[in-house]
Parts: sequence; C-alpha cells; structure tokens
Amino acid sequence: MAPTHDVIVLGAGAAGLFCAGLAGQRGKRVALLDHADAPGKKILISGGGRCNFTNLHTAPDRYLSENPHFARSALSRYTPADFIALVERYGIAWHEKTLGQLFCDGSAKQIVAMLLEECRAGKVDLRCGEPVGAVEHGDGLFRVAFGAETVVAPALVIATGGPSIPKMGATGFAYELARKFGLKVVQPRPALVPLTLSGEDILFRELSGVSADVVARSGKAAFREAALFTHRGLSGPAILQVSSYWRPGESVSIDFLPDQPQDWLLAAKRERPRSAMARVLGAALPERLAGRLAESVGVAGELGQTQDKLLRVAEAKLRRWEFTPSGSEGFAKAEVTAGGISTAGLSSRTMEAKAVPGLYAIGEAVDVTGWLGGYNFQWAWASAHAAANALAEG
Ligand code: FAD
Repeated sequence: MAPTHDVIVLGAGAAGLFCAGLAGQRGKRVALLDHADAPGKKILISGGGRCNFTNLHTAPDRYLSENPHFARSALSRYTPADFIALVERYGIAWHEKTLGQLFCDGSAKQIVAMLLEECRAGKVDLRCGEPVGAVEHGDGLFRVAFGAETVVAPALVIATGGPSIPKMGATGFAYELARKFGLKVVQPRPALVPLTLSGEDILFRELSGVSADVVARSGKAAFREAALFTHRGLSGPAILQVSSYWRPGESVSIDFLPDQPQDWLLAAKRERPRSAMARVLGAALPERLAGRLAESVGVAGELGQTQDKLLRVAEAKLRRWEFTPSGSEGFAKAEVTAGGISTAGLSSRTMEAKAVPGLYAIGEAVDVTGWLGGYNFQWAWASAHAAANALAEG
C-alpha cells in the first residue's frame, strides 16, 4: 500500500499537537491520530485550567531519567523563551505565578486553540475518536489501522503519553508499541502524586485541610514548598515533588521549621519561659498543626519548666519528621508518569529510535519526567521540536 502521508503522529496531546504542527509547516504531510474524542484534553485541565505552560528555570537537572543528560540537547534547542514568543504571537496574556511558573491569564483553552491553529497552518490531517489498531512496519513504511482505515507513512511518532489519569484517555500504549519495536521500557511509576499514610503516621489525618510551608526530603531530593495534610495522607507541591523521587518502602522527612535558626526552642525558652510549646510553634506553623506537633514531641508544659536536652530532641524531631508512606494515590491521581520508553535506544538530538529508522518517541511517553511547575510541558514542546526538525530534514 502506497504512503498516504509523510508522517504519522500517534497522540494529539501537548507533544503530538506541537510536533505535527511544526512538521506540517515544514512541508510534511502529517496525519495526527488520537483515540479520544478531542485533542489536548490534559492541557485543558492543566494548571487548574490555566495551563502552567513552561518554567523560566528549565534546566536538565530538573528532570528525572535513567540518563540525566538525555534531555539536555532538546531543552537547549527549544527554550522557555521560544515558547513564550509563540504564546505572545497569539496574543495570549500570561503571568509568572511563583518559582518561574508561567500560566495563562485566561484559560488553558487558549493553548489548545493555539496548537490547533499551528496544525491548521501545517495542513495537519487531525483525526480523533477512533481506536488505533494494529501498527505494522515493513518495506520502510509504518501502517497504522485507525478505525476502518489504514494510514501509511515512512515515519511514525509515538506521542501517546503515559498512563497517569486513565479517565482522561491515558494509556500505556506507548510502551506496548516501543516493546514491539524492540525498545526497552523503564518501569513506569506514578509521579507528582499524593502520598498515603497509615499506622502511627495517621495522626496527620486529623489535620486534613491544613497546609504549611516546609522542606520535604526524599533521599537527596529536597523541596521547599507547601505540604497539605489530607484525609489519606499528604499532598501539596512539596510532597508531589518528592513523590517523584520516592520509592515504596523508603522514608520521607519533613522540616517543619525551615525558617527558624538552630536552637530556636532554647532561645524561645530564654525569651518566653512561661509559654507553652504549642504557643511557640504557633508562631511558625498553623495553630492546629502546632498543637498536634507539640503533643507528639512530648513537651506539654511551659518551656521554662522543660530541660534543654528535651527541647533539643524536640527541635531535632521537628526539623526531621520522618515517616514511611504506605503508598501513593497511584496513576489515578498522578500528574505524570515517571519512567517510560528508555532513552538508551533514542537519539537525544532527534528523538529517533537508533535501531528503527523513521520511528520517534516524544513527550511523557519517554523516560524523562520534570518537576512540578511547567517543566513537563516544556519537555513536551522541546522533544516535539527536536523530532519535527529531524522529520523536516529527512
Ligand atoms: P498527553 O498530553 O497525555 O497526550 C497523549 C495523547 O495520546 C492524548 O491525547 C491521549 O488521548 C492519546 N492516547 C493515549 N493512548 C492512546 C491510544 N492507545 N491510541 C490513541 N491515542 C492515545 N504539566 C505542566 O508542565 N504544567 C501543568 O500545569 C500541568 N498540569 C497538569 C495537571 C494535571 C491534572 C495532569 C494530569 C497533568 C499535568 N501536567 C502539567 C502534565 C502534562 O499534562 C503532561 O506531562 C503532558 O500533557 C504530556 O504531554 P504528552 O503529549 O506527552 O501526553
């Protein structure tokens, strides 16, 4: 069967839409196929509906991967400034919320509309709402069954993302395809996900709804942001960030006193000997949390009546509150999937499979996972750009 297109992109999410538009504008006849009834569904719900579309502090060390250097090439050739220029060309107003995170002033719908306009400019043949069936490869051509049709092209881009939030149409299809073509898959796991607690750590459950500015640590990773207590465990940006580094069975620690100088409690004892622990902690933490922590470090009375040694032990505990999560809320609640198609089999310059000419993988499907805060979209844009350039040159 003769080629119907030059390129087939599977998955009309962030990476697929961007790659298809760019390749189309560079003269390629692109088919963009998705089983969902509409493109860009995750973009629409991202950033609380305002899409945190990039991060000004994008750098390779803010990504997790078995090969920490892999993302460097694509990220350096398509930067946050490049995406901001595109967003501005479309007159989309944006603002920096915090920590370099850029959001639309209006709505994530504007980003989807922009990407669709880019696809229209590239005459992309976008088809949604049919299942993708068998994918075959032979004689230098990829044949993809889509609904009742077969789409044929010499290049195939896997952009079907990871399995997080299956109710949005997310699947592990990328891994199935990758394995079929002999590519390795790094064990996928939920990331940027709330952690669950059980046993003694359940004490936090009573604090459901309370949040505090902390430093959360898992291994060598440390994040200074808010932690939110939930009825199942812990969430909030600090916890989501460390969850990407955490592995089942490992402990996580929280510093509840990140702004207080060393020996803060001893100083408080000298300055306010009649104050109770809960009152002193209340100066640094929400009241309910301060009360609960004071109880659990075992200092009930006035600070002036408490031995220095006990105060030192209490402070050390508050600075390194260690617990072992019973698990995470899983793919159903994970903002992204860590792991995925191994970078070992891909070119970092083009995203093409080294052993299968014409096969590419981009976006979340690949074993590159960003921190919370716009890093994952920046990877989607940058990896899509790298592949589109290579497709246009090919
Ligand atoms: P996706 O955007 O997931 O697109 C994959 C596409 O492939 C989908 O359209 C899907 O329907 C399609 N597909 C899947 N399986 C098949 C199949 N078998 N056949 C055909 N099509 C298939 N990141 C940020 O940087 N900033 C944020 O503000 C942000 N907010 C988020 C909020 C939420 C609630 C979630 C869940 C994620 C958020 N992310 C955010 C992460 C970000 O959405 C993803 O990293 C990004 O969408 C990945 O892009 P992608 O194109 O690789 O995959």
